[in-house]
Amino acid sequence: MRGKFLLAIDQGTSSSRTVIYDHDANVVASDQQEFPQIYPQPGWVEHDPEEIWKCVTDVTRGAMQKAGAAAADVSAIGITNQRETTVIWDRESGKPVYNAIVWQDRRTADYCQAKKDDGLEKPVTEKTGLKLDPYFSGTKVAWLLDNVDGVRARAEAGKLAFGTIDCFLLWRLTGGRVHATDATNASRTLLFNIHTQDWDDELLSMFGIPRSLLPDVRDCAADYGIASADCIGGDVPVCGIAGDQQSALIGQAGFEPGMTKSTYGTGCFVVANTGNTALPSHNQLLTTVGMRIGGEVTYALEGSVFVAGSAMQWLRDELRIIDSAPESEAIARRNGVVEDVYVVPAFAGLGAPYWDPDARGAILGLTRGSGRDDIVTATLQSVAFQTSDLINAMGDDGMRPSVIRVDGGMVANDWFLQFLADVLDTPVERPDNVESTVLGAAYLAGFQAGVVDSLGNLGDLWQRDAVFEPAMDAARRERLLEGWNDAVRRVRTDD
Ligand code: ADP
Repeated sequence: MRGKFLLAIDQGTSSSRTVIYDHDANVVASDQQEFPQIYPQPGWVEHDPEEIWKCVTDVTRGAMQKAGAAAADVSAIGITNQRETTVIWDRESGKPVYNAIVWQDRRTADYCQAKKDDGLEKPVTEKTGLKLDPYFSGTKVAWLLDNVDGVRARAEAGKLAFGTIDCFLLWRLTGGRVHATDATNASRTLLFNIHTQDWDDELLSMFGIPRSLLPDVRDCAADYGIASADCIGGDVPVCGIAGDQQSALIGQAGFEPGMTKSTYGTGCFVVANTGNTALPSHNQLLTTVGMRIGGEVTYALEGSVFVAGSAMQWLRDELRIIDSAPESEAIARRNGVVEDVYVVPAFAGLGAPYWDPDARGAILGLTRGSGRDDIVTATLQSVAFQTSDLINAMGDDGMRPSVIRVDGGMVANDWFLQFLADVLDTPVERPDNVESTVLGAAYLAGFQAGVVDSLGNLGDLWQRDAVFEPAMDAARRERLLEGWNDAVRRVRTDD
């Protein structure tokens, strides 16, 4: 057995992070750096892949230095990443043909609408579990082929490669030797059939995408080649890849059907393990690959809301009624649950289960006596209500979790988690280690490299820091949810 550490790269939407773990999943060192966001016009969001690469190499060097680690000390590398973000590069030079088009980018909205008008959403959803929405990679690839000079011809000549960020990083880490991605990232492209676990020729022809652009799709724990880039300082195998939300499910040891995790960072992402069944959603959720290990696919249902922790930033930076996000906890505790004021933070439209891009935010139910503390508390409550909408949609699809494991920056707020448990009428568990995403990637790599004998070990390592049991009486919960439903009805544009 070589090395005593595992190295995990977490390439996120606003920053990149490298964490070095020992084989018992203790953090030895980490380094993190933000990188620039590019907004060329309203609705467009890009990243410079070279900036991402530089940022990843900087934090990897930084973490290795802090740990005092050389390449020989690292058993394996795992990668987790912002999903759906799309890069096309030249196979010869490794140079991107254009900036990365980020998951938030809406430039292909009209293209998607035209395909929907042609009746194509149903077959796309049946094969991919996704919606025909600009969020996913497929229409971004089509845009690059149709709008960047010479790209289609070079793609058809087999000179170019497409990949999500994991795949681009792997290409760079291995010096252009490996063009591969994992099944969770592939499942977010609109091009991958989640039932056959292969790129789908019908989908490729629907979007006009040559198969030669596409990477090889492997298990989440697999041999991805040897990273020999300068930042590693030697040869280390890459052994694990998973998209960020799926990696968090793994980091939360969500291996059994029914296990559900909810991440509260900028937005909120709920992912429920549905075992070997690709449960179709009748409630506007996504069906996706939760993980693929040893050739066996575990499916998941996923729902996301765009605004969670960022609502606290809005209170702090725009309304300026709190000094810091954590202050919201003391305010809500002092104020108590608010029954008459509702904040609907639909700043960027409503995500699942409404998918109403034109809805906008509102504060409802104000009276002469309503004050700052009510608005702060109601904003915290709104994050729990949005989660409740997702969990109810999952329940209607046949997947009601008996407990929810939470992670992300916002779960430091005990008041929020108690209210969440009350509104969901379901226990909420917070682990000791709330950095589930990066831990998942490290563990996948360790498992493949043979330094961790079973992924199931994560279940033993998973330590509960706190459990929040539902304690609210049913009548009050129903009143609150009725008030929330009424508030949402008032901001929707599609009813
Ligand atoms: P991301 O990974 O999306 O950048 P993090 O997981 O780091 O996000 O979480 C940061 C978010 O959590 C911020 O939006 C912040 O407003 C929110 N947050 C942090 N601490 C608290 C708290 N104690 N109460 C409520 N929200 C919080």
